[in-house]
Amino acid sequence: MRIPIRDVTPETKTAEILGWVHEVRDLGGLTFFLIRDRTGILQVTVPKKKVGEQVLSALRDASRESLVRVRGNVKAIEKAPGGRELVPDEFEVVCRSESPLPLDVVEKVPAELDTRLDARFLDARRPRVAAVFQVRSVALQTVSEFLYAHGFVNISTPKIVAAATEGGTELFPIAYFEKEAFLNQSPQLYKQMMMGAGFEKVFEIGPIFRAEEHNTTKHLNEATSIDIEVSFADHHAVMELLEELIVAVYREVNERCTSALEGLEIGALPVPKTPFPRLQYTEAIRMAAEATGEPIAYGDDIGTTAEKAIGELMGEHYFIVDWPTEIKPYYAMPYEDNPTVCKAFDLMHPRMELSSGAQRVHQHDLLVRQIQAKGLNPDNFEFYLEPFRYGMPPHAGWGLGAERLIMTMLSLGNIREAVLFPRDRHRLTP
Ligand code: ATP
Ligand code: MG
Repeated sequence: MRIPIRDVTPETKTAEILGWVHEVRDLGGLTFFLIRDRTGILQVTVPKKKVGEQVLSALRDASRESLVRVRGNVKAIEKAPGGRELVPDEFEVVCRSESPLPLDVVEKVPAELDTRLDARFLDARRPRVAAVFQVRSVALQTVSEFLYAHGFVNISTPKIVAAATEGGTELFPIAYFEKEAFLNQSPQLYKQMMMGAGFEKVFEIGPIFRAEEHNTTKHLNEATSIDIEVSFADHHAVMELLEELIVAVYREVNERCTSALEGLEIGALPVPKTPFPRLQYTEAIRMAAEATGEPIAYGDDIGTTAEKAIGELMGEHYFIVDWPTEIKPYYAMPYEDNPTVCKAFDLMHPRMELSSGAQRVHQHDLLVRQIQAKGLNPDNFEFYLEPFRYGMPPHAGWGLGAERLIMTMLSLGNIREAVLFPRDRHRLTP
């Protein structure tokens, strides 16, 4: 019976393993193999004189990254990884790997990201890469469990849609019979509609599609969004929930991903402290101007350079709050006493934006006016506007980029590192 490599200890007497040939060293009379599975690495030592012809012929076939089955005796030995080695009675090549490899799994030669992504299945055999996706898996599980525990309903909304969430040019048109259709850029409109259905607290973890033209290290054309919407809540309530969630994810990853974090050479993550500072938009642009020497006019967006400058000064997670109504989407609620400012916020990591959210407009007439003010045609949003005519509760919510969360948590240099098969302008396969 096969056992995971992690479970082969000096106390194990005999063991059978299945794994990939990580490295081979032939010293004439002795051949050393390092065999790897997702749980660890084991040295297999073959004294050629003491093994049969069947093992010897398998050895010749066992090229690097071949999948092999080895059965034999376990011996304690100080110098080998994990303080043990396996001396085989049986050694079988289950599936031979071709040579040369498109990518060196052992990482002796650092490969360009593009080369790695082209051979992603091999790249993901690297413990360090697999570690990112273990962390991602635990992070997303934590998000779901956290939201379930807070009474949220998990929903799935359509990804093929007729209208843009916010108008705009970031849309991928698709061929949908004789109709005009797009890939959805956000579940925004649908999660709000479910507030009208009385669901009260909903969440969705799903793909969003953005036709971002430019290649950056923090944009994908297909990303994963963690979205929530909550009735009878204002922006303050959902900001508190968001910071609590971020802390829960950091804690859980520390608790459950120790070996992955070690593999990534980062050790325990510093858990952010709550409450995160709330920085007014006006203060944020003042700080950025002072740091960069480039003034930002009130009502201008905070670009990448400004974002970085503010992040450096803040040095921790923070919110930018009280944005000018004119630069936030039509569904953000303006303050009653000063409608030029709205109840929108961005959650920032020192490196970049992680999430945008707001208390939403729930009054039909105001929503129609705000859509018009953005130069959009309310007729195109009729399906969305209808629930607002039949008892829409006040509500608030946010969307959090899963890849940006993982990327910032693990200090990855490029967002593509946080996706198995990233989609960008130049990448449609694998
Ligand atoms: P940015 O200004 O950084 O491009 P955004 O303000 O356009 O982001 P939102 O529409 O506010 O993005 O989306 C909410 C969240 O979804 C963002 O804070 C981000 O974490 C994530 N997100 C949005 N677009 C992308 C993308 N192209 N690639 C990866 N994540 C994204
Ligand atoms: Mg945003």
